[in-house]
Amino acid sequence: MTALDGTLQQVFGLPSFRPWQREAITDLLEGDGRVLVVAPTGGGKSLCYQLPAVVLGGTTVVISPLIALMDDQVRSLRDRGVAATYLASTLDVDERRARERRLADGEYRLVYVAPERLRSGELLAVLRRLAPPLVAVDEAHCISQWGHDFRPDYLRIGQVLAALNPPRVLACTATATPAVRDEIVRRLSMAPARVVLRGFARPNLHLEVEEVDGMAARRKLVIQRVHTTLGEPRAARGAAIIYAGTRRHSATLAEQLSAVGWRCSAYHAGLDPSDRERVSAAFAGRDLDVVVATNAFGMGIDRSDIRLVAHLQAPGSIEQYYQEVGRAGRDGQPAYGLLISGVSDFGFRRRLISSSSDEVNDAAYFDRQWHLFLDLMRYVEAGSCRHDFILRYFEDDKELLGGCGHCDVCERLDGVAGEQLISDEDAIIVRKALAGVARLRRRAGLAALAASLHGKNTERVRKLGLDTLSTHGILSPHHERWILSLLRRLMTAALVDVTAGDFPVPYLTGDGIAVMKSELPVRVILPPPDVGRRKRTRGSKRPAAPAPDGVDLQLFDLLKQVRTEQAKSRGVPAYVICHDRTLQDIAARKPRDHIELQQVHGMGPARIDAYGAVFLAVVAEHG
Ligand code: ADP
Ligand code: ZN
Repeated sequence: MTALDGTLQQVFGLPSFRPWQREAITDLLEGDGRVLVVAPTGGGKSLCYQLPAVVLGGTTVVISPLIALMDDQVRSLRDRGVAATYLASTLDVDERRARERRLADGEYRLVYVAPERLRSGELLAVLRRLAPPLVAVDEAHCISQWGHDFRPDYLRIGQVLAALNPPRVLACTATATPAVRDEIVRRLSMAPARVVLRGFARPNLHLEVEEVDGMAARRKLVIQRVHTTLGEPRAARGAAIIYAGTRRHSATLAEQLSAVGWRCSAYHAGLDPSDRERVSAAFAGRDLDVVVATNAFGMGIDRSDIRLVAHLQAPGSIEQYYQEVGRAGRDGQPAYGLLISGVSDFGFRRRLISSSSDEVNDAAYFDRQWHLFLDLMRYVEAGSCRHDFILRYFEDDKELLGGCGHCDVCERLDGVAGEQLISDEDAIIVRKALAGVARLRRRAGLAALAASLHGKNTERVRKLGLDTLSTHGILSPHHERWILSLLRRLMTAALVDVTAGDFPVPYLTGDGIAVMKSELPVRVILPPPDVGRRKRTRGSKRPAAPAPDGVDLQLFDLLKQVRTEQAKSRGVPAYVICHDRTLQDIAARKPRDHIELQQVHGMGPARIDAYGAVFLAVVAEHG
């Protein structure tokens, strides 16, 4: 046992370090003293500065925007005999002065400082005299204009660090893409920083994307899902957070959920701070089961039994999504993340980003935000495991699962009842495309490759010599745009990568080579067959069989939803329950009882027995 272990047990009452905590702390104390820790909320980042603060002596400065959490943190440190305090503009002036005096006298081992306090020259002078052995910057992604949580006051931290010149700097954040990590390191002048990145894998989360258009249909789906995950309103199993894009949507959905008996509240920027406080407290105190929120709801809410995080609309970035969905299932029990997205999300997000970029008057800002959103839409469209997609996005390669087995894509790939849904023919198509990438030998870009695989004989293809490749025309039955879409999926599945630089050209990754050689199975869903053939409307991507007249599309979507749930709960493939055609017929006829249900195409006695009541209930509820 080292001295650090002793402090951990005696002061913090914890039996052992998480491996990465020891790594970060040791590096901070014995290495170059510049460490960036990226780990999810609740992962145990605060120990990485609290323990060094105790070991180092002097006064460690912690910069954090979460004023609401400071009180708790300070109190629990004091309970452990560590002198600590916090400074924020929420304190009355006398109290703040008193704390600053004691701070100047060196009475505290740790001081938490809200970023806006860094504007005070007086405080900076005090801090400079204290010569802190360590400055920790919590929620460090707030420094990034690339991120979703930018705080202008954070830009000041770079100057503060330059002025204090502390021997050690620790930056912590729960989510940061590689670009944001670079930005943190640059703005805090931490290079060369040690990056400790851990804990993005959340294997107990069931991730799912549903493409649905129309707000009413989206709300219906969410309400249904709240029921299936939490059970009955009066005996809820855990809690749910729903994120909505606008105040109006959040208010409407909250009303609907309340109307069917849920203890539910809306939470948005239009509420008084005191009302928001009340909602947070009620949710944390388990007096509310469901909150429908527009923004940062959940920050600092330590509720481990959240079973469902649903998004009524696509959020602004993968980071934001993972931050929000990551609030589910902290207790390690199964939890569900449902992201609903439809074609209207593009326009909605564009308007949102436009108006905020007008505010900051910055065209580059628009581009960045838009690209972050497009990254998220790639997640929505991904044809490979959603967990692995996210882990790759954050470059958390050590935790890749190679297919989690329970996200919606994995379920489709593995088949609901374990039968393989990716056919041999589909696997061959993927391997042909991979072979095409290999033969290309980094000679051309994706578009030229797609043209060649399709068998096009343009001048460009000939000039690049692609028409002589053995893979030329190997995918000729498929449309060029479909092939491009496939290549993109191979990229998100990390089988293909592109070179950096002005003219990116594709090449196979190690996994790509292994899949091409059949050493690894194909785990990619092919793009919908109609890509490139006709304009594709999202949300109805399944090939449309001739539908009966007068189908209520919203009802049809709901029925499909119910069918999926029935299939899951019974452990059978969806088609065993019934075909689309049957559901369309129900959505057109809207039967009210068993007799009318018998008229429906495909509804034989056995099906009526097994599922009749469920479908009738959906029809009745939908009205
Ligand atoms: P973060 O700052 O990453 O959001 P916290 O530092 O608040 O997370 O830690 C979350 C919880 O994990 C705390 O209750 C803390 O006591 C606990 N924790 C931290 N490190 C350990 C550890 N090594 N062993 C057990 N529990 C730990
Ligand atoms: Zn998966």
